[in-house]
Amino acid sequence: MSARIVLLGPPGAGKGTQAARLAESLGVPAISTGDIFRANIKNGTELGRKVQEITATGALVPDELTNELVRDRLAQDDAVDGFLLDGYPRNVAQVAALDEMLAATGTAVEAAVELTVDPQVVVDRLTKRATIEGRVDDTEDVIRHRLDVYAEQTAPISQVYGARGLLVQVDGLGDVDEVTQRLLDALQGVRSA
Ligand code: ADP
Repeated sequence: MSARIVLLGPPGAGKGTQAARLAESLGVPAISTGDIFRANIKNGTELGRKVQEITATGALVPDELTNELVRDRLAQDDAVDGFLLDGYPRNVAQVAALDEMLAATGTAVEAAVELTVDPQVVVDRLTKRATIEGRVDDTEDVIRHRLDVYAEQTAPISQVYGARGLLVQVDGLGDVDEVTQRLLDALQGVRSA
């Protein structure tokens, strides 16, 4: 079965971990724009040089760059029958860009799954991750900025998918396996509706 899914949720909600598990279970690639940007920065590519400073402050990379990157990625063979997007779309304009990309191949987003978590839990998780992974955007100030950007620009997209009847919200608190199971159950519900 095809699956064209977007995973929503604030920084620190556990999207990356759950995206990998869900994608595996659905047999589609997990595509994380954050991971793609970090890989480009690490490898010193032209794109990496363009986005390095922006991502370090927690601001969003300009839509033109991000949309083009996603367009290229979705055109690759492994994403033709489905994908799980993590970290994209991240504002209302990106929702429209994604709609247009998919419409060009006669497809559309089938479900938007939002992982919900308490903001204080998110800050604790991200601060802990900073010491483990050493991400440059996991410092206290930048975390706060990423959460503000999320609230202002990304949170509204839940309503957009909600209005289309595609939104499912899942509690991101709890054991990793438990959350994965909740996500799979919720998806089953929305996709068979
Ligand atoms: P987070 O834990 O904040 O969700 P991500 O790994 O998804 O982190 O993203 C890290 C950074 O990469 C973001 O703060 C932003 O600068 C950039 N980024 C990732 N996805 C997008 C996007 N869809 N649009 C613009 N910028 C993005």
